[in-house]
Amino acid sequence: MQFVQDIRDRPVTFEVQLMKRRKSRIGINFEAFDRVRLEAPARTTLEELQAMVSAHERWFSYRLQRVAEESPTFLPPAYQHGELVLHHGEPLQLRVCFDGTARPRAEAHEPGALRLYLPGELHNPEPLIRRLVRSWQSREAKVLFEHTLERLCGEIDWVPTVPQWRVQFMRSQWGSCNQSGHLALNTHMVKLPQPLVDYVLVHELCHLKHMNHGKRFQGLMDKHQPDWRDRQTELNRYGGLLAEL
Ligand SMILES: [Zn+2]
Repeated sequence: MQFVQDIRDRPVTFEVQLMKRRKSRIGINFEAFDRVRLEAPARTTLEELQAMVSAHERWFSYRLQRVAEESPTFLPPAYQHGELVLHHGEPLQLRVCFDGTARPRAEAHEPGALRLYLPGELHNPEPLIRRLVRSWQSREAKVLFEHTLERLCGEIDWVPTVPQWRVQFMRSQWGSCNQSGHLALNTHMVKLPQPLVDYVLVHELCHLKHMNHGKRFQGLMDKHQPDWRDRQTELNRYGGLLAEL
């Protein structure tokens, strides 16, 4: 059997193997940043395993983060001419022009490309390209969240006005909601297809009503986004983006 449970707002798949020869201890194998294999004694119930995971959420989060950082499948992008970065789920090619500009900048005027204007030939342009790409992504993320929140809050009756939010690069979660109802939204979301951005934002907006991931929270998700479980599974595939620098 298997189940999906959020660890610090990131869905993680737990594959469970019930083993006759195990007496009491549960074996835990971290297989990927979003996948854990549990070996449990034959009579263990799903509820017991979920409770065990909840009780040790901090520790799971710590271990999965280490796995994400060590994962060879998600090499950090190289910030150089010809490389691809994801944008709204589509690849954008970096095109670097050394045009002697006094104002280094990133502009996305052509389809499928992000053009970077740099002053003259640099010995090592990568740090500057990275800085330009990331600040462009931050600006794009602000526009994305402004539009998405405005649309979603118009559709959701328990959110009378757009809540306070800020955008920042985060390494362990797509979004979060604190006790005062302020949202923190991950800049990396600018790389996701819109339906997945909607999923993360609806999830955070549901936290304005229920701070946990219990039955009532899930009921609210079901009501507003009936296919949220599919989106959650799809979002899992993009988890490696969180490790990008
Ligand atoms: Zn959550």
